[in-house]
Amino acid sequence: METLTQNKIVCPQCGGENDIPADGKFLECGFCGSAIYFDKSKIVNHFVIASNFNEQQAEGNLRRWMAGNFHVKDLDKNAVISAKYFYYFPLWYFKSDAAHGDKIYLQPATSTSVSEIKSIKIPAGSMKAFQKKDFDSSQFVNPDVLYDSARNWLVESGVSADLIAESSLVHIPFYQFYYTYNGQQYTAMVEASSGMVYANVWPAKSEVPFRMLFGLSIFAFLAMSIFSLIIAFMVGEGKTALLTGEMLNIFLYGAAAIPLVIMAYFVAKKV
Ligand SMILES: [Zn+2]
Repeated sequence: METLTQNKIVCPQCGGENDIPADGKFLECGFCGSAIYFDKSKIVNHFVIASNFNEQQAEGNLRRWMAGNFHVKDLDKNAVISAKYFYYFPLWYFKSDAAHGDKIYLQPATSTSVSEIKSIKIPAGSMKAFQKKDFDSSQFVNPDVLYDSARNWLVESGVSADLIAESSLVHIPFYQFYYTYNGQQYTAMVEASSGMVYANVWPAKSEVPFRMLFGLSIFAFLAMSIFSLIIAFMVGEGKTALLTGEMLNIFLYGAAAIPLVIMAYFVAKKV
């Protein structure tokens, strides 16, 4: 990050001196073609991350994610994909200095419903200087959150502004999928450099059968405790009876756990 000097913008990539355009906050370097973001006080580098997944591969990742354990059974087979888009999503990228562990903080540079986007892992070395001529500009979502706003959010979230040693604007490739399941629409994003799936909401397993099983377990163990005590006091007296009751209890708990575990297994498989 460099400062503006004498009404010239020095390109952070090639060192070329560009005139400051009268309007806007984005500039294409006249020497090397790098995209540069600037405002009153700073020049911020512009990076792009290459896409490694085509649409089919991204959809394959989405289906595998849908088949995972946290989602409703057979979601991968029953979800109907209604639309898919490929685009580069803009993120503000802040990095603390080495003394503070080279930590990376991300803030979306435009609004998104998928807040998980902030937790994306950007592999070191994957950021390339963004040159407009190498890309189809219609695939880029325009950043409309200004640098200062993003930086303020970061500071509000508890990161000291003094720690930030490096700031950049990074364009990250995504496939966004819309799908319907049981009449409801959902969205999920596949990050196209790593293939990771990001989503805030999805058709989850119903918790009702698990709650019922939990209730049943409590009832079963309570009933057995009472049963053990009654039996124990029928055969013995006082402390001996209590001890017999305890022994009987342990045995019955163990016996009851077996069918309950089997039931839990089938409930988990079914929903
Ligand atoms: Zn340049």
